Amino acid sequence: MVLITNAHVISPDVDMPNAAVLIEGGRIKDVIAAGAPLPKADSTYDAGGDMVIPGFIDMHFHGGMGCEVTGDNPKAVEIVGEAKLKEGVTSMCPTTLTLPEERLAETLAKVEAYRKAPTGSKVIGTHLEGPYINMECIGAQNPAYVRGPSIEEIRRLKAISPVALVTYAIEVPGSLEFTDGLIQEGILPSCGHTNATFAQFKAGRERGLKRLTHFCNQMTRLHHREIGLVGAGLYDDDVCIEMICDTIHLCPDMIRLAFKVKPLNRILLITDAMEATGLADGNYSLGGLDVVVSDGAARLASNGALAGSTLQFNTALKNVARETGLPLAKIIRTTSLNQAEELGIKDLGRVAPGYVADLAVLDKDFRVKAVFVDGVRKLG
Ligand code: FE
Repeated sequence: MVLITNAHVISPDVDMPNAAVLIEGGRIKDVIAAGAPLPKADSTYDAGGDMVIPGFIDMHFHGGMGCEVTGDNPKAVEIVGEAKLKEGVTSMCPTTLTLPEERLAETLAKVEAYRKAPTGSKVIGTHLEGPYINMECIGAQNPAYVRGPSIEEIRRLKAISPVALVTYAIEVPGSLEFTDGLIQEGILPSCGHTNATFAQFKAGRERGLKRLTHFCNQMTRLHHREIGLVGAGLYDDDVCIEMICDTIHLCPDMIRLAFKVKPLNRILLITDAMEATGLADGNYSLGGLDVVVSDGAARLASNGALAGSTLQFNTALKNVARETGLPLAKIIRTTSLNQAEELGIKDLGRVAPGYVADLAVLDKDFRVKAVFVDGVRKLG
């Protein structure tokens, strides 16, 4: 048994200073309030008053530390998985780009090898971002490999390694039937890189498409005569929105607006991090396209389009706390519980008895001091 003492436990709707967390067999056995007697344990970790929160789940990122998940480096997933742990991310969905099927298959093979023996964050499943997107909302995806939706291709890729979610444009011909196929395969559908109208999205939503990839970025803007997908994200209470809270992809006012109008159980913080994450400004690439990172903002060298972020997950939470002023016990569900619920995982996302002991210890400035994965201290 492991005992974490002097813990400021923050979990959805829970804020317990001076608490303790008892871990047994990789799961949380008890959360002990201040003043209650502490049980004996085999080892103790003194959190020193720091926050003990559920480990983050990052459902959308492409790389970090100079590596791209879809890149040539055979150790890319391992390097990024270990770097994610330093941000407090304990589970993740490595994310691909618009690439040929052979390249996606190679990436899934790499993810699968790591998934079986993770040295850092655990893999839930891969996020396929593209290739079935709209050319007019290409962003930093490679137009050379955009194609129409194919559930057969998804089945072939899923046979290599679990696919957790697929980002595609619902207005592309065949996408409604493709939505049915994803749901049959147990894969989460997510709409992105799209210029769908509100009505087109509604047709998808009626088939089970209830998620928007990097909300506001590369999607139909809100217009007063056509509220588009930004309108859908804000209006539809059952639609989950991914948010890149780096204050670049979404300005602070948009962060505040979304947190004001959306039910908090429908917001998913993500990083959308690319390979420059954790490194200095300079020249990098994304899916084979040249990218320049300046003041932490990654943009395509060719046209200045945003090309992923250099955001680290703990900083995303810090930004949301600062910009919204909401209590941490409220916003903390946007970093892991909502993700777990969406993916149908019932024992992740809370610091509560019975839940997997995936925990991050953060100081007052949101720096990661320690991380526990399955009850084992991996960092700190
Ligand atoms: Fe994207």
